[in-house]
Amino acid sequence: MILRALCRIAVLLAVLGVAPGVAGQPAATPSGARPGSLSLWTAAQLREPSLRPQAGAERAIRQLPRPDTTPPARTEPLAAPQAPALPGVIRRVALPEADRRVALTFDLCERSVHVTGYDARLVDVLRAGNAKATFFAGGKWLRSHPERALQLMADPRFELGNHAWTHANMAVAAPDERRRQTLWTSAQYELLREELDRRLLARGLPASGLPPLALFRLPYGRGGPEVWRELNALGLSVIQWDVVGEGGGGTPRARAEAVARALRPGSIVLFHANCVPRDTALLLRELLPLLARRGFATATVSELLRAGAPEAVDQGWFTTPDDNAVYDHMFEAAGTGARYKKSQGR
Ligand SMILES: [Zn+2]
Repeated sequence: MILRALCRIAVLLAVLGVAPGVAGQPAATPSGARPGSLSLWTAAQLREPSLRPQAGAERAIRQLPRPDTTPPARTEPLAAPQAPALPGVIRRVALPEADRRVALTFDLCERSVHVTGYDARLVDVLRAGNAKATFFAGGKWLRSHPERALQLMADPRFELGNHAWTHANMAVAAPDERRRQTLWTSAQYELLREELDRRLLARGLPASGLPPLALFRLPYGRGGPEVWRELNALGLSVIQWDVVGEGGGGTPRARAEAVARALRPGSIVLFHANCVPRDTALLLRELLPLLARRGFATATVSELLRAGAPEAVDQGWFTTPDDNAVYDHMFEAAGTGARYKKSQGR
């Protein structure tokens, strides 16, 4: 009884960000950057731009005149993840009793035909609530948003994962394309980490200590055993979700309540931080206090995986098997290009 009460207090303190996590686990995470890395920027530089045109420009989705298929400056990462990857398509993590952490995850998707946004409002909400989060970034997104990518990487509350170079549908892309999509993204991340460490050292601060990307999120949630085995061989564990955060209509408040009801300890929630959809920040603003009230704390996906047993399936999907098969015929060039036109008979 006393133990239970202590655990409940630990969870509450963890939500408030004033205690060393749950059940004695360290607050500093090997998956996130060393504390202090964020001091490279002023508070104003980290926040949503105060000028409306700038804030609007950052949230805008820009169509490109022609697909950008150029490779990153480095196409193979120099270092691979150290720990062996976990098999299957992981949807949630079974945690020890009294550990009520959940992982909020945010995809930063970007196809070859556009440049997507950065939802600074959403990241402001996370930081104000001292919430932990995992961002699955497209490699091309990392390249088109280098400063914001560096800020996410430098925040000890956050970790990054790999979301393919230009959002290829791994269920329809050829094996060599799947490999390129994965390695180009990990290499782009590595270039940014080197830039982050250069800036830290120039200020006399310790290097970020960030490890290579070790988590992968399937674009469109598409991919089966052949895909996750390939990703595992590259040292990447495939992380999906058991709760879909956005969509379903209704007010942000109603949506937040629906998400909170669907959550269990160890849940992984899918959101987006690239302004597709646009109002995730409003939903998150409602959700974080609801989580605290229900005794949930936030963790990165890596922290959940270290604390419990992954629950995996063989295929990626949204809420029921095959509910995402429609994406195999929605976008050109194996999911990386423009939407197929109806006249093309698809
Ligand atoms: Zn995506």
